[in-house]
Amino acid sequence: MPHFRLRCSLCDRLYSFDTRAWRCTCGAPLDVEVLLQGFTLDFEKLRARENTLWRYRELLPIREQNSIVSLGEGFTPIMVREINGTKVVYKLDFLNPTGSFKDRGASVLISHLNEIGIKEIVEDSSGNAGAAIAAYSKAAGIKCRVFVPAEAPFGKVLQIIVYGAEIIRVPGSRENVNKAALEAAQKSYYAGHLWNPFFIEGLKTISFEVYEQTRGVPDAAILPVGSGGLLLGVHKGFKELREMRLAEKIPRIFGVQTYGFAQAYERLHNKKVKKAEEAILADGIAVPNPPRIDQIVRAVKETGGDIILVSNEEIIEGFKDLASLGLFVEPTSATAQAALNKLIKEKVFERGSTIFVPLTGIGLKATDKIGKYILK
Ligand SMILES: [Zn+2]
Repeated sequence: MPHFRLRCSLCDRLYSFDTRAWRCTCGAPLDVEVLLQGFTLDFEKLRARENTLWRYRELLPIREQNSIVSLGEGFTPIMVREINGTKVVYKLDFLNPTGSFKDRGASVLISHLNEIGIKEIVEDSSGNAGAAIAAYSKAAGIKCRVFVPAEAPFGKVLQIIVYGAEIIRVPGSRENVNKAALEAAQKSYYAGHLWNPFFIEGLKTISFEVYEQTRGVPDAAILPVGSGGLLLGVHKGFKELREMRLAEKIPRIFGVQTYGFAQAYERLHNKKVKKAEEAILADGIAVPNPPRIDQIVRAVKETGGDIILVSNEEIIEGFKDLASLGLFVEPTSATAQAALNKLIKEKVFERGSTIFVPLTGIGLKATDKIGKYILK
């Protein structure tokens, strides 16, 4: 059976699973390392298991079955469409319990905290991750406090409040919010999804599912990059499949960013992007300083991918393309379609290629933005 280790992504220092550290003493993020020790998944055996991401539980870093906090997340449907000679595998991950892919990360993270006996956590996301972590905390009986900017719209925090989390409004910048959360976390546990490696362990299951549902490995994956958790999770999932000798290759990883939040693009291409737009349509990937930027750039380079920048206009076009297929997603999710359109137009993919496009968040979460910027 696989073994798991918690290890610094930069200096290799090892940490105990019981640690409350949310990053290494050197400042770098921690990773969960899976030592397979000859283990491989038997997909025939999986068929009898429940249709959640916990069907892959041997590859998830939770020891006891009764630590698991599940709301039925994962194993979301796929929808395959042919677009200009490429086979596009859409994964309807917005159909997760709280309406976004973040439930994958929240289920594994909260199960881990449940296992090590954490009773109270602190978070600083008012978006999809905040909602997911609030929901799973409630299910686990863990007290959850979420720090949000003072001006965060009620609509955005409503879902978090419904799940019973305590909202603390902090005046000033996003950095102030983070500072206040970290201060409170000294007596609690900081569950910030930008940093937490157990969150990424949950996200990697999307790759196992695509492999199982399509019986193969796509040629490329198109992934919106905010904190980079999805991109790193997908990359890690396929790497583990390859290590188990199930997959022969790893898809080319294409990240998607916007002009206003283009740090990974800038790092990859070694140039500055000036063209920021006033309206932030894709708020889910409006992350100014992703802590795992080095890992993001490495994954993209290693797989022969790229980071694609999309404009609001292109996002709106992508949103409408998805709507014409019958799909109602958040503008952030539509960035993946916008990038797909660009890559197909630039003939980056060979004819007959299979492209994996996860659709990360449901449109119902962003009716205000959709009404304001897309329907007008
Ligand atoms: Zn370190």
